[in-house]
Amino acid sequence: MTKIGRITKISGPVVQAEGVAGLEMHELTMVGNEELIGEVVRVEGDLATIQVYEDTAGLKLGEPVKGSGMPLAVELGPGLLESIFDGIQRPLTVIRDATGDFVKRGVKATALPRDKKWHFVPLKKIGDYASPGSIIGKVQETPLLEHRILVPPNREGKIEFIFEEGEYKIEDCIAKLSRDGEIYELKMYHKWPVRKPRPYIERLEPSEPVITGQRIIDMFFPVAKGGAVSIPGGFGTGKTITSHQLAAWSDCEVIVYIGCGERGNEMTEVLINFPEWKDPRSGRPLMERTVLIANTSNMPVAAREASIYTGVTIAEYFRDMGYNVGVMADSTSRWAEALREISGRLEEMPAEEGYPSYLASRLGEFYERAGRVKSLSGLYGSVTLVGAVSPPGGDFSEPVTVHTKRFVRAFWALDSALASMRHYPAINWLTSYSEYTDYVEKWWNERTNGKWKELRLKALDILKKEDDLKEVIRLVGIESLPETEKLIMETARLLREGFLQQNAYDPVDTYSSPEKQFKLLSAILQFHEMALRAISKGVPVAKISSLPSVTDLAKVRMSIPNEKAEEIDRFLERIQNDIKRLTGEGV
Ligand code: ADP
Ligand code: MG
Repeated sequence: MTKIGRITKISGPVVQAEGVAGLEMHELTMVGNEELIGEVVRVEGDLATIQVYEDTAGLKLGEPVKGSGMPLAVELGPGLLESIFDGIQRPLTVIRDATGDFVKRGVKATALPRDKKWHFVPLKKIGDYASPGSIIGKVQETPLLEHRILVPPNREGKIEFIFEEGEYKIEDCIAKLSRDGEIYELKMYHKWPVRKPRPYIERLEPSEPVITGQRIIDMFFPVAKGGAVSIPGGFGTGKTITSHQLAAWSDCEVIVYIGCGERGNEMTEVLINFPEWKDPRSGRPLMERTVLIANTSNMPVAAREASIYTGVTIAEYFRDMGYNVGVMADSTSRWAEALREISGRLEEMPAEEGYPSYLASRLGEFYERAGRVKSLSGLYGSVTLVGAVSPPGGDFSEPVTVHTKRFVRAFWALDSALASMRHYPAINWLTSYSEYTDYVEKWWNERTNGKWKELRLKALDILKKEDDLKEVIRLVGIESLPETEKLIMETARLLREGFLQQNAYDPVDTYSSPEKQFKLLSAILQFHEMALRAISKGVPVAKISSLPSVTDLAKVRMSIPNEKAEEIDRFLERIQNDIKRLTGEGV
């Protein structure tokens, strides 16, 4: 049934229409003569309020508004990878090629290409039963990822017919399912509403870390596969670089990168740079396992509001194939601003700092979609959510940061003081935290002779003591400290410069394997023990710290590559010999 109403009011991206009785909340609507895409956000009798995902300039009162009978949904199937979409999954590259402009209004382009042929391999045969969400076949979508063709979560039936291996388009009916006398024609893709989490069999406790290769993250503030983490930080503290590092290096099989640019040209840079990036492990284009969602500042705010749900729905779809998926949203503050602007247009009562009272629940609806699950296909998969937050003035007590904290269990606090000292990543080790350490401890302990937890606590303790001692030093000067406390300062310096700092642009330092991370941290802490012994034999700290081998320890992160991590052991022997010489035990 088409319900045609008329526009009675236009306020920026928000439009009111009357005579639309029957339109439902979140229903996709076509607005105006150009049929701009909109979504119903409020219904009162035969009045509906619609947020429009395209530029409403030129729209006039009295123009028609039509419902589609469907909620705002995304297309899920081969063709997702390597794509660049806007917030409602319109393919930006296709639209740009079609119009010459970046995004034009009313341009209709399907999210997934219709003409492209994919090599489909059936994994079920006639007579098999296809349960909801099960895998019916596969397509090697890119050299980096096998796309498993799923029965939609709300469909099932006996396979009456299935194509043989061959080249097909996504609109082709690849199989027919029968159930209760009804036939369902299965295609290689299906649609799913963005605001509705995809179902799964069971949610599981997180148990494995996401290995990011970033030492402060993996060792001190880990995130588990299926976890949710926030990266808050003021302008220029490293949110985007950290998100990029995770996209390139983390051991997630699929990346969904949602960019909401902070600076005018930042997203344009992402759009140009990202396709050039290489997957560091295979050397192939990173895009072959990435879906990019871009919100540039010239796009309508409503599309930005929808983008994080579009992104997480795509992520859940890959999760349901049995993959670990990482979602990076940079920056969610830009998303929250879109929410605020739309709320203002809706003339809602503002809460803190003009944000709507449902800011927290909306953030919750996003972060709660993180998780590790047993999917309907029977395979295990995960969605890990990483949201950057850019609090104005770096003030972490503002609403977006505060509410985000309620839904994430790891917090990588970027610090402008560290950034201005060029200590990168500028993650503050005193204010950051992770509640995933207990979950990932087993994984690490199995690879570190059970030493991971002890080591990280010891290192964090030394850094905490350094912070306490700073105040004392300010008052009385370092010379009046006992030698053991001077050593704390020296070891803390080595931890900061030789372990915590990590240069994203250095080819060796940009990624540390778990083995190298562990060896590096143990080397610094073993140095600490050796030095303590030497102090007890009367050697002053100044003599120890001026040893060339000790000075070099801070550079090992760049001088010893991952493949030669065992050289760190030999490096430590060198330090040991040098210290022995100081105590007179050397040869
Ligand atoms: P934000 O997104 O928070 O505004 P960026 O991620 O753009 O900040 O980082 C700002 C600058 O900080 C970068 O251009 C880079 O020079 C530096 N930087 C941040 N993190 C690192 C890092 N891990 N290694 C080297 N430089 C970094
Ligand atoms: Mg940024």
